[in-house]
Amino acid sequence: MSLIVVGTMAFDTIETPFGKAEKIIGGSATYVAWCASNFVKPVYQVSIVGNDFPKEELEQLNARGVETEGVEIIMDKKSFFWAGKYHLDMNSRDTLVTDLNVLADFDPKIPESYQGAEFLMLGNLVPKIQQAVIEQLRVRPKLIVLDTMNFWMEDALDDLKEVLKRVDVLMVNDSEARQLSDEFSLVKAARKIMAMGPKYVIIKKGEHGALLFYKDQVFFAPALPLEDVFDPTGAGDTFAGGFIGHLAKTKDISFNNMKTAIIVGSAMASFCVEKFGTERLKEITKEDIDKRLAQFRELVNFDIELV
Ligand code: AMP
Repeated sequence: MSLIVVGTMAFDTIETPFGKAEKIIGGSATYVAWCASNFVKPVYQVSIVGNDFPKEELEQLNARGVETEGVEIIMDKKSFFWAGKYHLDMNSRDTLVTDLNVLADFDPKIPESYQGAEFLMLGNLVPKIQQAVIEQLRVRPKLIVLDTMNFWMEDALDDLKEVLKRVDVLMVNDSEARQLSDEFSLVKAARKIMAMGPKYVIIKKGEHGALLFYKDQVFFAPALPLEDVFDPTGAGDTFAGGFIGHLAKTKDISFNNMKTAIIVGSAMASFCVEKFGTERLKEITKEDIDKRLAQFRELVNFDIELV
C-alpha cells in the first residue's frame, strides 16, 4: 500500500477566540501527512516550499515514513502563507491573507519512485496543479480523493470542474457544497456534485460531523463533542488523512469500508483541534487513536426496536 499526498506546506497565522498563533507550520499536505502516516507507509509527499521552511519539519515527517523527494524547495522565494480568524462558533472563519508565494509557479514533477502508488490524496490546492498530478501518473491509482475550498470555486471554477471529472471522491464543507452546486439542500447538492464526476461526495459539517453520499445512500459520522476546541485549522485535512489512510491500510474501497473511514477521519480530526497547528497530531500514539475510536463507537451505539 502506498499513498501520494499533494497539497500545500505552509506558514499559517491563526486567530481564535482562545488566542493567536503567528507563523506556525500548516498547509493542507502537512496535516494530511501527519495524520495518514499513522496508517500507511510510505506516504509520498508532493508540495513546494521556500527557503524559510524549517528543514526539521521535513526531517520529522521523514522519520514517520513520509518521503519528501517530491517536495520542491525554492531557495529565493517564500513559502505559501495563510492567515485566518475564527468566529466565536469556531465553525466559520474569515481568510485574512493568502500569499501564494512559491505556489504561484508550482509545476510539480512526480518522482519516478512515486509511480505505481495505489492511493492519491489531492489536498486543497490550485485545481490545475491537482489535474497535472493525475496526468503524470502512468497507472491510475485505485482511488483518487480531492479536497478543495471556496477560494478555488471563486478563482478557478472551470479548472475545478475539469479535475472533478477525474476523481472518485470529493470532500468539501457544507457551505462549499452549496456554493458548488447552487443548492441549499445537501442531498440535492451531493446529487448535483456526483453528476459532475465523483462517485462519492463527503460533506464536512465541522462540529456537526460529516456526511458520505454514494448513489442514493447516505451515511453520517458524528464529530466527538469536545470540552475544549482550540484551533480547527487543518481539521478538514486531518479528516482527509484519516479517511484515505484507513482505506489505504485496509486496501478496501467499498462503500461499507468508507463508512468506517469517515469515522476514522472524524476521530483523527478531533485530535487536531485540541491544540494549535499540528502540535496535537505530533503527540498522539496508536493507543490514543484506539481509545478515541472506542469513544466514537460508544457515541453512536444504540439499540432500537423497530415498530
Ligand atoms: P483546513 O482547516 O482543513 O481547511 O485547512 C487549513 C490549511 O489549509 C491551512 O494550514 C492553510 O495553510 C491551508 N490553506 C489555506 N488556504 C489555502 C488555499 N487557498 N490553498 C491551499 N491551501 C490552503
